[in-house]
Amino acid sequence: MNDFFQENKKVAKVIHEVADLANYLWQKGWAERNAGNISVNLSDIIEDVDLDLDNYPKFELAQPYPALGNKFFFVTGTGKRMRDLAQNPMKNACIIKLNKKADSYHIISMKKRNLYNFRPTSELPTHLLVHNQLVESGSTKRAVVHTHPNELVAMTQIPKFQNAETLNKTLWGMHPEAFVFVPRGVFMVPYILPGSHKIADATVVGFEQGHEVVIWEKHGAFAIGDTVSDAFDMIDILSKSARIWFMAKQSGFEPEGLNEEQLLELKDAFLK
Ligand SMILES: [Zn+2]
Repeated sequence: MNDFFQENKKVAKVIHEVADLANYLWQKGWAERNAGNISVNLSDIIEDVDLDLDNYPKFELAQPYPALGNKFFFVTGTGKRMRDLAQNPMKNACIIKLNKKADSYHIISMKKRNLYNFRPTSELPTHLLVHNQLVESGSTKRAVVHTHPNELVAMTQIPKFQNAETLNKTLWGMHPEAFVFVPRGVFMVPYILPGSHKIADATVVGFEQGHEVVIWEKHGAFAIGDTVSDAFDMIDILSKSARIWFMAKQSGFEPEGLNEEQLLELKDAFLK
């Protein structure tokens, strides 16, 4: 099966993009140890694969994802390092196929005998719930990225920024392009245990409301995009704003930000 994925140029391109992104995340210092996880819906580019699923390990899901029956995903592995994934994506990530009822999945990029302790990311509940929402809503977005961007996480340690309205106004105010590229701003999820179904349920609300970035208080960011690069760009732009805010504070000034009139002008020009 590995041969099939290497020969399928569209799948190989996605895997290459994920490996490149894993490298960026590591270089940015947003992917310490095994931090971060990525998934991509491959169902548009894997159509007819003749699989004897009995040859591949099967895992039950705690709940069904009704829009994801028979769909394929590239998913990073739990406990795997982004810096290793950048070098060897097929050993640090896998391709899964959900069953028809979407209440279990097979790992189809590894044979049973090669599986050892490999499992998809511990944040699989959030990834699948977000993909379920994207498919249900007819979105073109296929990629979901979770990472730990230092400055954005640091801002959520400051009580006044645990409120989305204040955080968005501040991030937009640090650089106009933060508004141009993320005009709906971020959705804030208060601190919840990572890897839980509770955090998945809270996160999907932000994407249902049309946001493209969800911030997990004191933890990290979740973003969606047509590709993994698009999802990364959203977090990168907001991180730049957060960095500018800290740089101004560190030099002893209260950052001024854009005023109401300037923000309204941006809204008129860019919020469709
Ligand atoms: Zn995390």
